[in-house]
Amino acid sequence: MLKVISRDICELDISYCYWLKFSTVDIVSSCRKLVKLDMAGCCVTSLRLSKILSNLNFLRLLSVDINSGFDSGQLSSECRTTLGRLRELKQTLFIPSYGVVPCCTSLEKLLLYFEVLDRTHEGMVMSGQLLVGESNVPHYQNLRLFYARLAPGYINEEVVRLYLAVLSDRTPENLRSFLISVPGNLTESRAAKNLFESMAKNVTLEAFQLPKSWLNGSLLQHMKFSCPSYLSFSRCMISGEQLTQMLLNGGRDCKSLVSLNLRGCTLCLTSNIPFKKPEDDIDCSVLDRLISACPNLLHLNLSSAHHHSSDTSGMHLCDILSQLKKLRSLSLPVCAIADSNRTGKNQSTGQSSPSTSSITFGKKVRIGAQTFPKVPEEQDKLKLQSAFWKLLKEIPAVEYLELIGSNFYSVMPRNDPAIRNTYPPCKRSHNVSDADVTAISQLTFLRSITLAQLPGILTGSCLVSIGRSCQQLRTLSLANFGMMGKVVFMSSLCEMLTHCKYLKDLR
Ligand SMILES: [Zn+2]
Repeated sequence: MLKVISRDICELDISYCYWLKFSTVDIVSSCRKLVKLDMAGCCVTSLRLSKILSNLNFLRLLSVDINSGFDSGQLSSECRTTLGRLRELKQTLFIPSYGVVPCCTSLEKLLLYFEVLDRTHEGMVMSGQLLVGESNVPHYQNLRLFYARLAPGYINEEVVRLYLAVLSDRTPENLRSFLISVPGNLTESRAAKNLFESMAKNVTLEAFQLPKSWLNGSLLQHMKFSCPSYLSFSRCMISGEQLTQMLLNGGRDCKSLVSLNLRGCTLCLTSNIPFKKPEDDIDCSVLDRLISACPNLLHLNLSSAHHHSSDTSGMHLCDILSQLKKLRSLSLPVCAIADSNRTGKNQSTGQSSPSTSSITFGKKVRIGAQTFPKVPEEQDKLKLQSAFWKLLKEIPAVEYLELIGSNFYSVMPRNDPAIRNTYPPCKRSHNVSDADVTAISQLTFLRSITLAQLPGILTGSCLVSIGRSCQQLRTLSLANFGMMGKVVFMSSLCEMLTHCKYLKDLR
């Protein structure tokens, strides 16, 4: 098929088709009209890459892996000419190397994925030194976007520093997006410091993500944002005052902002850091100011913190978030959705508080029985009272939802340091019951849901309701659902799965 239509193809994605025969991959070189080519996950030698790219005069976007054995000296001058015309390059590195970047002199977008292992398969320790002969340096002068995502490991940190060193020498004037995603801490280097000084002086950023250790108050205050669209302050010790001041800077609105990541920013919704603890109640006026100024947010992450609403202020975090009518993805800590003032009423009706399970004195919960709510009126009453029910009613376009306990750590995280300790769930998260989580069934466009560390779940009956209503569900991830060590939701889960016709990913 590729042979027959090769002359007409403009975009070709053969990513992760590692099983393609080399003779088939070679046909790509005859797709002369190609503008976009994705070969990530295909094992291609530098000689073969050179042959493929030599004829592709119209190619502007390329995605490619750099594997061991790569030698930029083997790239023909025709191949280099093609690379010189690229506007966007996605490069995954399995060895310490600049890859094809030094040949790409017109790049506007550079996306780098660092996947170098600290040791070879034979157990040899790898070094962060670049390959011999890689004396050419990258040309970044036209860059608008620099993105780097690092897999865990010391060596990836070493290699990203080499890429950054070049960037700090001369910061491109048009740089608008600067994003580095690192597991754990990346020690701040001299080059990084120079880079930020230069960025603060010369560029205004629209999209911004930095390692935690590089984010501190003084650095952030010097950064200039113009019409920001994507901002990540993940795990940064930023206060609500600093955040609102930086974003809203004296009455400025943030209508351009579509994505705000405040994951692990435990104090970002409180006003005065020195006297606050992460479990203290949030200052709703901070959140209200922030959300009112960013009405077009599509993605919001507030996980890995507590964000408890005050019992007395009368305002709940969920009430404020319900202004975000366009939200597509939302990540919240479990305890942040709890209605603390409702706990007493729940206990009196025999529902959903941790004390209920202790009253049963180990009596087995009837698995699969529809425990919540017992009477339809009870459910109606809950819908009216529950801030979470009201919130999800107001943001019906949500496709990705995460409810993760603020003390939850994955045992096998992909892009975070593994933490072996387990911490007990926050006390307030015990108040979040099956009946509360059933609120998710209002989101009929939901495609992905993660529920982790919800100790207040007793039977998992909420899963059945979600499965019935959320027919678009593709991804379901459950961890520490219900009491630790007691998998009481299995029957509900099985029933749920009979409704999930499109589910692709279950963990
Ligand atoms: Zn909490």
